[in-house]
Amino acid sequence: MSLKPINDILGILEQQAKWREDPFQLLIQSWAEIVGTVAAKHSRPLSMQRDVLRVATSSAAWAQNLTFSRQALLVKLNAKLSMSLVDMRFSTAGWQKSKEVSQPQPSFLPSEHPSYLGDIHNYSTVSKTTEQNANQAFESWSRIRQARSQGLPLCSQCQSPTPPGELQRWGVCALCSVKQSSNNI
Ligand SMILES: [Zn+2]
Repeated sequence: MSLKPINDILGILEQQAKWREDPFQLLIQSWAEIVGTVAAKHSRPLSMQRDVLRVATSSAAWAQNLTFSRQALLVKLNAKLSMSLVDMRFSTAGWQKSKEVSQPQPSFLPSEHPSYLGDIHNYSTVSKTTEQNANQAFESWSRIRQARSQGLPLCSQCQSPTPPGELQRWGVCALCSVKQSSNNI
């Protein structure tokens, strides 16, 4: 007996275990395969109640579109996932909500940056300089730093006012930390 049939059997058992765990999750995973990648972008299974599958769609047109092909989709779904669904209901209700849930949260906030001073206005000023050359951008950044210097702690190296976040991160200001690391090379 070769290993392959055993692996096949294990695969089937795994699949069945998954199915018992949560048939709805399996349905969501196979959704694009069943409706096609384009339709999958505009539809999302919401819930399964009794033998009826509720699906949210991005627009009324997509709800109509998929309603027309629901018989074919039911056959595919029942065959692929060994289910016994009898109907599918498509509606735009719940689309927005389920979309929000699936969107990943931004992992980086400006306020987490060591140079952040708590003033969004300066960020737009800095970003306007990106079209100029790097030196000009650096100069205007320095000017902004100087303009905001009141009340800031001083860098122990160059005695210039420094955002507390930079001192926390590097012990010195951002400029001195760059100088230090380039001296070390
Ligand atoms: Zn410094």
